[in-house]
Order: sequence, then structure tokens, then C-alpha cells
Amino acid sequence: MSALSPVTRRPIGLMAAMPQELQSLLDLMPDEARVERGGRTFWVGHLQGRAVVAVLSGIGKVAAAITATLLADAFGVSQIWFTGVAGGLGADVRVGDVVVADALLQHDMDASPLFPRHELPGLGVSRLHPPRALTDRVVSVVAEALLEVDAAGALHGLGLGRPRVHRGLIVSGDQFVSAAQDAETLRNHLPDVLAVEMEGAVVAQVCQAFGLPYAVVRSISDRADGSAHVDFTRFVDGVASPFTLAIVMALLRAVPDGAGDALEAS
Ligand code: SAH
Repeated sequence: MSALSPVTRRPIGLMAAMPQELQSLLDLMPDEARVERGGRTFWVGHLQGRAVVAVLSGIGKVAAAITATLLADAFGVSQIWFTGVAGGLGADVRVGDVVVADALLQHDMDASPLFPRHELPGLGVSRLHPPRALTDRVVSVVAEALLEVDAAGALHGLGLGRPRVHRGLIVSGDQFVSAAQDAETLRNHLPDVLAVEMEGAVVAQVCQAFGLPYAVVRSISDRADGSAHVDFTRFVDGVASPFTLAIVMALLRAVPDGAGDALEAS
């Protein structure tokens, strides 16, 4: 085994929200070994020659916290990349677009009057920020990856146009937001919010606790207003999974080995 063997590096943790997204990664892992921990199946192996641990996140804050904590503590990952779907809240965030988080917040955290609304007790902040250098890189590779990915037919078939990439605030909570009024309330409290989902801000908090860099990338599957914008299964199979695969592969090429050790979580 050469001194440069990637197995000597800490693996990259890949958290996917949907089984189809995880499967698209596993299909390209030549040597994945299955490890059971905490009721989860972790797939330890290589993708493009890089050491990775791929796992299904689980839906919701606690499930994601357990998964991320195990990646950090039991598998010793150097960083975590989360991919999944989300509801679009920003005015120009459309179904099929991709949102890269540069800030994450738990919209259902409210320990007021002890702490201001949304503030994470003990941390003194409500928003967590992935390292800027990693976010910059993610935004540029996502834009390129979306051009490469052959989802045009699927996008067109679902009545979707060319996807755009957005960068900004993603909020998470233990609620699938499907009432237009709830979406409006979130926009009123957090005017710069772009997307809502159920795990990203948790991954941020876990990674901050362990000093790990992280990225959260979400394909927009709905407008969080209860309308059936697209057939969800077709969207995940035809759009979100190819996006996840293209984005992860492009990121593996763009983020050098050991970058996780150099990037500081902020
Ligand atoms: N309908 C899907 C379940 C999606 S569950 C199925 O049958 O499999 C919700 C997942 O999608 C969570 O992981 C969450 O992060 C994300 N999500 C997508 N749109 C969302 C929205 N409008 N509100 C909250 N979470 C959303």
C-alpha cells in the first residue's frame, strides 16, 4: 500500500436524505463495507479513490444529530457533506433549483424568554455558518455539476426549467412545512430565508461541536405551501439523485485530500 493511499486519510462523511440519493452513491463505491451503529447502516469505502463513509441521515433533528455525531465520533470523518431535498421559501427559489447553505438556523428553537427566539442555548447565536472557503467551492462546483448532469429530460418532463444555484440561509425544524401560512410566517420572521428542511442546522451544530467543516446542499422539491408542484418520487429519482451524485463527485474532485483538516469550522 502506497504512502499516499487514501485509506490513511480521515474519510469524508456523506449524509443523504433519501434512500435513492444514497443508492446513487453506493452504486459507484467499489468496496463498500457495511457497518451497523446506533440503528443505522454506515457504508465505509471509497468514491473516486477517496475514503468516504456514506449514510442515510434519517428524517428530523434528532435522527440527523445521531447520524452526524456517529460520523464525527465513531467514524472520525474529516468533514460532512449533506445532500437532500428542501422546500423553497425565497421568492426566486424555484422547484428544481439548488440551495447551498451559508447560514443555518433551527426555526423551531424557542427558549424565550430565557434566550432570544432561535438562539441556541449555550452557544449565544442563532445562526451557524459553514466555513466560507468550503461554501465558496461548493457553490462553484454545484453550478458546474448541474451543467454536466443529464437531468434535462427529467426536469423537462416535470415541467421544470434550468436549475439555478442560490447561496444563503437554510432553516431546519421538526416540521414538514406544507401550509402556505406556515411558509409565510417563516418568511416574516426570517426575511432572508431561502429554504426549509428538517436536518441541516443540526448537522451544522454537531459539526461545530466537533470542529468539523460541513456543507449543506439542497435540491428544491416543493415550495413549502402544500401544492403538489411535482411528482415527488419522480423528482427524487430523476432530479435530486442525479444532482446529489454529480455534486458529490464534483466536490470530491474540487476539495483536496486533507482539506477538511485545514478548514476551520466557524
Ligand atoms: N414525501 C417524502 C418524505 C419527505 S420527508 C417521502 O414520502 O419519502 C421530508 C424530507 O424532505 C426531510 O428530510 C426534509 O429535510 C425535506 N423537506 C423537503 N421539503 C420540505 C418542507 N417543505 N418542509 C420540511 N422539510 C422538507
